[in-house]
Amino acid sequence: MTYEAAGRLYVVATPIGNLGDFSTRAGEILRSVSLIAAEDTRHTGVLLKHFGIETPQLSLHDHNEKQRVDDIIQRLKRGYSVALVSDAGTPAISDPGFELVRAVTAAGLEVIAIPGPCAAIAALSIGGLPTDRFCFEGFLPARGAARRKRLESLSAEVRTLVLYEAPHRVRETLEDCAAVFGNERSATVAREITKMHESTYRGPLGELAARAATDADVGRGEIVLLIGGAPPEAVEESGADGHGGRLDRVLKLLLAELPLKQAARLAAQITEARDNEAYKRALLLKQT
Ligand code: SAM
Repeated sequence: MTYEAAGRLYVVATPIGNLGDFSTRAGEILRSVSLIAAEDTRHTGVLLKHFGIETPQLSLHDHNEKQRVDDIIQRLKRGYSVALVSDAGTPAISDPGFELVRAVTAAGLEVIAIPGPCAAIAALSIGGLPTDRFCFEGFLPARGAARRKRLESLSAEVRTLVLYEAPHRVRETLEDCAAVFGNERSATVAREITKMHESTYRGPLGELAARAATDADVGRGEIVLLIGGAPPEAVEESGADGHGGRLDRVLKLLLAELPLKQAARLAAQITEARDNEAYKRALLLKQT
């Protein structure tokens, strides 16, 4: 069902550090809507004041998004448009907004993007690592063991990885990445993009980790970490399977003869890998 006279939900990107990046269209939309749903109304208040926008705001953050959804849908159905903004960048990208967008589309209402800054895309555009395919992982788990486990699950990823990281964890994360992906894997730290102290560090993970240990600037401000993908031949031949390459070799032989599940189960028994580990590797080998 669609509502002809219904309002629209506009998902509006805002600057990630430089107010000059606020688009003309973003300004027009924020001025014209009935309400701005903002991650932090005080934060967005500063932006609105700067551009002389007087539209009322409603807070919508991770802890109240579900409750706010119904109110916003009712408002849209009554014909009033609403804009969604987050503190910086594109809403719903490691920011609140996904639940609202999903509910609004499920209600048959229109959602319109007002695109603009996004730290992940900005970092990719200057990172110097392949951008034809990439894999956005957002924030890693904060705790050491869970973070390592997540990284291990990504060690055979052939696409460029894009991670967001809090400044106080950059050093540890680079060390963990170097340990899991190897010191030689290419990486880029894009820091304070669009801001006064913007800087970009490029090099092998081992070097970046060593630099982060001695140069406090690497861990200051906001950061996007890009990690080059695993070379496809390394995925197949090196120890990327966590078993010195043995699991992959056995899997390849078995996959040539057997269905995937059976090959994975047998390979797990032969190499003493875990069943789900062998299954994941089998899926990956089938794709490459
Ligand atoms: N929705 C935002 C976007 O579109 O990029 C991301 C929000 S997320 C909560 C915040 C994270 O984005 C930061 O911890 C940092 O990793 C990254 N980030 C945001 N602004 C940045 C900037 N100016 N330079 C580098 N990274 C930035």
